[in-house]
Amino acid sequence: MHYAIRCPYCGSQNIKNWEQERAYVPYTYDWDEERITPEFSCLNCSEIFGCMADNTDSLPQSHYVAFHFSVGQKSKQMKTIYFEKADSYTDLEIAIPYKDVAKKARIPLTEWQDIKDDLFNQLFILSWQTDYEERNESEGNYWEMVLGFDDRHSYEVKGVNAYPVLYERLLELINPYLEELGFEKESISNNK
Ligand SMILES: [Zn+2]
Repeated sequence: MHYAIRCPYCGSQNIKNWEQERAYVPYTYDWDEERITPEFSCLNCSEIFGCMADNTDSLPQSHYVAFHFSVGQKSKQMKTIYFEKADSYTDLEIAIPYKDVAKKARIPLTEWQDIKDDLFNQLFILSWQTDYEERNESEGNYWEMVLGFDDRHSYEVKGVNAYPVLYERLLELINPYLEELGFEKESISNNK
């Protein structure tokens, strides 16, 4: 994907590169004591997002090894898509457990790099809230995403009938894989 950068909090394209204006450097993520600084700040909502580090090895995306995404009605057929990185390839599996249908494919590491780049540098998934929920709604379209790392605990994001501003872009990223393996494309309106 090559979109204009959008703020993961409000969706605005009115952003600028983050500059250290104060002595205090806000660590974007509170993992370890590594100096990870934000990459952008939003001129609309003032949030900061993205991350940069002197040592790229300390960036979360350098240790990112698994993507799990499930969506659907909890009582019915949750569609689940998994990407699991191995040493020289990435396993892709899409399943609808209720129907006992699972399809697998293998993608090259270069493609996993592209997916990773989209997730971290276009969707800024680490800046998503961990919980999106429509008020007073516990049923409806449930979705859940788990990001797995090889050096830190996993990061989970979920929601019911409510979505982050960049959610549609996430679907644009995974829909080609759903279609390739013969599953229906996912969209927010599918589930209304
Ligand atoms: Zn914003």
